[in-house]
Amino acid sequence: MNIDKLLQSVRNVPDFPVPGIQFKDVTTLFKNPEILKELSDGLYDMYKDKGITKVVGIESRGFIMGPLLAEHLHAGFIPVRKPGKLPAETYEVSYDKEYGKDTIQIHCDALDETDVVLLHDDLLATGGTMVAAVELIKKFRPKKIYVNFLIELEELKGRAAFDPEIEVTAILKYAI
Ligand code: AMP
Repeated sequence: MNIDKLLQSVRNVPDFPVPGIQFKDVTTLFKNPEILKELSDGLYDMYKDKGITKVVGIESRGFIMGPLLAEHLHAGFIPVRKPGKLPAETYEVSYDKEYGKDTIQIHCDALDETDVVLLHDDLLATGGTMVAAVELIKKFRPKKIYVNFLIELEELKGRAAFDPEIEVTAILKYAI
């Protein structure tokens, strides 16, 4: 992967959605077909030998690369969603965000103990969202859980929020 080219393709939007946030806009990555393919192939290379059976994407930006990657890995795709969106019985977890509080849900029959799960989202900030998602996934006692982000904001030290046994990867890292 051409990391410099990928980094240059992420649009930084200052003070969105609230003052003080440097918002990393991934739509400018996805709109370029070459970059989209590079990301998709790069993610596939990272996880092709891990025996992944389910890719779990977090609403809503985890729903863009998540299904692409699942199809590529010949795995299923599972959505983790905001409350009130999933129609059947759900598990849920609440957590603090970089800006505000939130709750996420997953269908109770989404996974089982035979699964090797790759959790995917666009960006690691404080880690609150993904740590909550890992908690949700642990309810199913899968064989293994991997965590992947397109972008990591290293200064927020979100990586430290994960148990050391969870392998956390990010393709693009920003010092600020
Ligand atoms: P966190 O739980 O703090 O790691 O926040 C992660 C989620 O919030 C990601 O799914 C992002 O979509 C969103 N997010 C938080 N901070 C930013 C940011 N600076 N730029 C873009 N998205 C962000």
